[in-house]
Amino acid sequence: MVTASILLDWPQGGLAHPRLSAEYLAVLTDRPPRKNALLTKFVESDQLTGLELPGDDRLRLSALSIESAMKDGTRAAVQHACAEFLIVATEFYGVPTPDVRALASRPLRVREGGWASELFGDYSPTTGLIRIWTRTAVRKQVTSFGTFLSTLCHEFCHHLDCQRFGFRQSPHTRGFYERTAALYHHARGTPIKPFGCESRENVGA
Ligand SMILES: [Zn+2]
Repeated sequence: MVTASILLDWPQGGLAHPRLSAEYLAVLTDRPPRKNALLTKFVESDQLTGLELPGDDRLRLSALSIESAMKDGTRAAVQHACAEFLIVATEFYGVPTPDVRALASRPLRVREGGWASELFGDYSPTTGLIRIWTRTAVRKQVTSFGTFLSTLCHEFCHHLDCQRFGFRQSPHTRGFYERTAALYHHARGTPIKPFGCESRENVGA
């Protein structure tokens, strides 16, 4: 059973990307590419399961600021808190700081077969812009903090792939999800939950 929702989060590439469920319980990975050059990077990304993390609570404090802004602040305040989080993170990882836009809600996309899916965020490697939605498309409800932070970490890990690891395609590999989970749980101060990976080839979608 597949519990992860499939979303598009890579607008420039035109590729359908799976996305981890907010709780990191299940993972859908991208199908390995056929071209050797791309496959080499895919395997490198898959095997890079660790991510260096700060030894202090700077990211945790930045995440708390985002949570506080989501409770009491405006969308501008949420965006500002996200920008601060990204400044702290990029200083640590030694990469350029991506721009971030916090937007209200994304129009619902209807996928083939009538499966509607929602997008929580995306990243453009061309412009270095992270967009993140503060409300869900279906019910217009405020995105939960956990989903919001995991989305921010997910998109930032695409940025790290492009700017630090040389993974220009930034595929959704097992390693990618493990790096994303490491960053998310570090920033949230929660233990990493065990999760399984399932290749999209096995999904039949
Ligand atoms: Zn992604």
